[in-house]
Parts: sequence; structure tokens; C-alpha cells
Amino acid sequence: MLKISPSDYDAMRRHGEQTYPLECCGILIGTVEGDTRTVHSVVRCNNVCSAPQTRYDIDPCDLIGAQREARERGVDIVGFYHSHPDHTASWSPTDLEQAHWIGCSYVITSVDNGKAAQTASFVLSGKLEEDKELVEERIVLEKRS
Ligand SMILES: [Zn+2]
Repeated sequence: MLKISPSDYDAMRRHGEQTYPLECCGILIGTVEGDTRTVHSVVRCNNVCSAPQTRYDIDPCDLIGAQREARERGVDIVGFYHSHPDHTASWSPTDLEQAHWIGCSYVITSVDNGKAAQTASFVLSGKLEEDKELVEERIVLEKRS
């Protein structure tokens, strides 16, 4: 399960609208307890992929920055998000191939004609690269107290 505040959830979706028709991408920072990941903040990243219409690569500098921010705040990277311009919010073979953080959430928002539509989250399950899989999980919108 992915717990996220309505404002962070909206921030991810707005990001996909702003970069349309290109894919946006970002990092989710927070805490993990059992199978629940709780998002504390959303970090927008630059998509440095050479084909940003259909793919994303998080800028390595952004990833390093997010790791530093998480460490300083005593939390972890709990997930990643990106958008699918004019495509469903389901993962692609490339998404699975590029997903390496076992136990993290991978959130996808479909953006139809510049407007955020469905948002879905998948947890990267398995133990190794060889048996990893993306399994849909529930998104729970909850204001952080
Ligand atoms: Zn994708």
C-alpha cells in the first residue's frame, strides 16, 4: 500500500500535465513499515532520456540529491513516479526492465490530452532481478498529521 497526502498526489499528477506530451519523473521520499510505504515528500526530477515521449530516465544528479535529502531527514526513498502521455496507467516491459529498487513503489499517471487521468501504483516485488515483478497496490490518500 502507498500512503500519500492529497497534495503530494496532486503534485505528481500536475507534474505529468506540465511536461506533457513528454514523460515526467520523480522520486518519493518517506518511510516503510511492513508493506506500507508512506510518502513524506515528492521530489521532481528531470527526465534526461533521449526519447522522453515514451520513456524516462531520472537525472542522476536528482537521484543523488534525493538520496542526500532522505538521509539528512532520516527517511528513505520509497518510490518513483512517471507519466504516460496518451497511454494507460499500466507498466510497460521497459518500466519493469528499468525498475531495480525491490520493495519500492512505482507510480504511473496517464495523461490524456494534457489532463491527468488515472494514477496507479505498483510495488516491485521479488528477491532478485530475475524474478522481480510489478504488482499493483492500493493508493491511500491520507493527510499527514
Ligand atoms: Zn512507463
